[in-house]
Amino acid sequence: MSDSQTTDPQTTDPQTTDPQTTDPQTTVAELRRLIDDFVDRRDWHQFHSPKNLSMSLAIEAAELMEHFQWLSADESRKLAEKPSRLAAVGEELADVLCYALAMANELGIDLSTAIRGKIAKNERKYPVEQYRGRFGPEDGR
Ligand SMILES: [Mg+2]
Repeated sequence: MSDSQTTDPQTTDPQTTDPQTTDPQTTVAELRRLIDDFVDRRDWHQFHSPKNLSMSLAIEAAELMEHFQWLSADESRKLAEKPSRLAAVGEELADVLCYALAMANELGIDLSTAIRGKIAKNERKYPVEQYRGRFGPEDGR
């Protein structure tokens, strides 16, 4: 089936088209609860050791990378123009985030605090005036 024939779950799935469930209307706490409820109802906390979750997260990240493995940088940017491929990438990205949220739940890590702290650290590490348009110290521009 070509991309033009494929139904786009991003636009047809009621879970994603309900304007009340999109990113601007959803809190991190709601997503954490969603994951926790899913895991709880299956009695899967017993399998969610930090070791297993960190491995699962890396495995899902590898599945995400598979979608881009043989593409050029330009081709990878154009993937967003193909609805079925974008939906597949969205599913893998969701897998990664689900495991990240599950890990935060198991370890009691407040993600908002952790992310804000990490961004503050990176702001100091990569000052805008020094790194704007440069990817890092190795970028000789
Ligand atoms: Mg997956």
